[in-house]
Amino acid sequence: MKQQFLIFTDLDGTLLDHHTYRFDAAQPMLETLEKLAIPVIPITSKTRAELLALRVALNNQHPFVTENGAAVFIPKGYFSTQPEETENVGDFWVRSFSPVRLFWVQLLESLAHSFRGDFTYFSKMGEASIVQHTGLSPDAAALANDREFSEPVLWTGSEAKKTEFKTMLAEHGMWVIEGGRFLHISNGSDKGKALTWLTQTYQQQWPDRAITTVALGDSHNDLAMLEACDQPIIIQSPTKHRPRLTSNSSVINSRLPGPEGWSESLERYLKVGMT
Ligand SMILES: [Mg+2]
Repeated sequence: MKQQFLIFTDLDGTLLDHHTYRFDAAQPMLETLEKLAIPVIPITSKTRAELLALRVALNNQHPFVTENGAAVFIPKGYFSTQPEETENVGDFWVRSFSPVRLFWVQLLESLAHSFRGDFTYFSKMGEASIVQHTGLSPDAAALANDREFSEPVLWTGSEAKKTEFKTMLAEHGMWVIEGGRFLHISNGSDKGKALTWLTQTYQQQWPDRAITTVALGDSHNDLAMLEACDQPIIIQSPTKHRPRLTSNSSVINSRLPGPEGWSESLERYLKVGMT
């Protein structure tokens, strides 16, 4: 049986440099993987709008996962038949794991009276305020605000109230992932579930190949995907502690941060030279 690797990768701080968002150092390895027909599948907190721009720069035509695992986008025609459980959305077959943005906005509106002045969120902030709090350019902020399945929360209240907020959500079966500056609320969708579903889809579509999944990430919100894959690779971060895996799988730790570490650890694991 032909061996087939699938490379699932976080973007910020992993394939993209933490500070500059550049990926020059990974370019030769990206080209090598494309030549070897090894798909590189972005799996990120970014939105579809952000990904569509980035895929052009990356010259990547493979599926991708947006908003922290909320949805998997597969380009139409990528597989010979439409995968099960997907919907037709524009040029993509889409499998979503989360309610739509409006659900989250309405949930936050309903909580506002109990947490007066403790939080705000993207659609309430408006783009000028998003620019101010993210450091993104106005154009980039507009793409980040073009959300489909989630609503980032900016916490401005006390730690005690934040704990109360998390507890209240947990009682409704939802939990909070703390990103850099924003809180992300999830109903259980995560990068791990998206990786597992997409891997099963590849396996159904390519039954004559033995699939091995590799996942690369640099932070806590990558844990679920690192634990769901066959070979986790943790990319060194200049700002974050290494995420700690509970499974005792043979994790690879990169020796360098960002795209340099991305290339170096894949070269070591796959034993392929860079072009
Ligand atoms: Mg990251």
